[in-house]
Amino acid sequence: MSCSNNCLWCARLWVQLPRDTGRRSLGLKTFLSLSSSIIDLLQGKESNELFQAQSHLYKHMLSFISSMSIKSAVQLSIPDIINNDGQPITLSELASALDIHPTKAGFIHRLMCLLVHHGFFNSAKIGHDEEAYDLTPSSRLLKDKIPSLSPFVMSLLDPALITPWHLLGNWFQKEEKMPPFESAHGMSFWAYVNKNSDFNNHFNQAMAIDSGMMNLVVKDCKPVFEGLSSLVDVGGGTGTISKIIIETFPHIKCTVLDLPHVVANLPATENLKFIGGDMFQGIPSADAILLKLMLHCWSDEECLKVLKICRVAIPSNGGKVIITDIVINKDKDDPELTEGKLYFDLLMMILVTGRERSEKDWEKLFLEAGFSHYKITPLFGLRSLIEVFPRKQLSSNESVHLRTSLISMVARNSMQLFVFLPGLHPKLMNKMQIGSDKTIKNNEYIESADENEVFAITQITVTDCGCGWASN
Ligand code: SAH
Repeated sequence: MSCSNNCLWCARLWVQLPRDTGRRSLGLKTFLSLSSSIIDLLQGKESNELFQAQSHLYKHMLSFISSMSIKSAVQLSIPDIINNDGQPITLSELASALDIHPTKAGFIHRLMCLLVHHGFFNSAKIGHDEEAYDLTPSSRLLKDKIPSLSPFVMSLLDPALITPWHLLGNWFQKEEKMPPFESAHGMSFWAYVNKNSDFNNHFNQAMAIDSGMMNLVVKDCKPVFEGLSSLVDVGGGTGTISKIIIETFPHIKCTVLDLPHVVANLPATENLKFIGGDMFQGIPSADAILLKLMLHCWSDEECLKVLKICRVAIPSNGGKVIITDIVINKDKDDPELTEGKLYFDLLMMILVTGRERSEKDWEKLFLEAGFSHYKITPLFGLRSLIEVFPRKQLSSNESVHLRTSLISMVARNSMQLFVFLPGLHPKLMNKMQIGSDKTIKNNEYIESADENEVFAITQITVTDCGCGWASN
């Protein structure tokens, strides 16, 4: 026997059917037509999956078209033109307002169609069935009024930053440590910025605008800056964030430390100083060190170096490092946010030696650099604000009163509470029974604990310490 698919499956199935009941009641003809439709269905499902996979692949393979369409909209000032009109602009009005060759007017509709599809513009039919366009929140960020992220678009999509992507596969095959940007241009990203003054201007402008958006959150982060009288903004660019901090906290003396070509000729004010230098060589002392979008540019080894210098630059009692950077949190963030964070992670791998980090990665760095605890406050968008506190050194007559009931996070062992007291020497580790109260005097509990073990037990939140400081 054979079916329309000429396959052995039907033959096998037919043989397996009980001779007296199954075969008789179904009949060979009906059986064959039924089985062939099932197979058709299965094959249909397979091709459906295949075509879905093809669409998925094509979509991602071509997604550079999305980036480049945004870039051309910025180059043509489409967001500005729509914004200046103050109302939805028709396709013909848009085409005549644009600085384009008349032969290209008929193509604008196609560019707009994709940008509307991606949510950069709204479109509606008005009048004689003509399309009219309006801004969306995303394209409002691309017009020339502040905050405008157009310089960001132009610098991140500059050909110099796109070229290294072509070398990525090759880079993985080689032992070389330098990032693809360096292979492509024969110099580090920072040296390239220094050498190309147009790019330097675009890049600094882009970073300044990004910092300008911090305006929206600094006021909400008041407790972070309260009590500080001085702050050094390391890699602070042209000082935008420092100016925002000074506006809200006029008593804080701010210093921006950045590479000499970035801060050259920037005018100082009473509260704002600029220092040209290299953070790996030294950082001026202050109550707080700010690192905004800095550490993600550097490898773990380089970050450790900087963090150790920061630790020495701040007072061990009351000082802190304030970091604004990405924290990857795939479990909690929505997929679109995670996608943005993962894009930045690869961008850091291509351009510089940096990477984006999960909370676990950050924690490891902080503890290895000799800090004892930290607090992460998610900000809007991709970034979080991380406050990192040094280990406080107790003087010989100080004591810490630790109420275990107030310890909110406990490590590992359920029977014993491992307490790493932030502020004490790493070798001071105590094992106490849960529920007991303990007063620890300096040096009283020096035990032969392995330092690494101490570092592994982290994120214990100690409140109500008798020595005048508390975390969380
Ligand atoms: N913090 C700014 C800029 C971040 S971009 C902001 O968020 O807007 C990184 C900055 O680090 C650039 O301004 C760059 O010039 C600076 N930088 C790079 N290497 C440095 C070094 N070795 N010492 C000090 N600053 C450095």
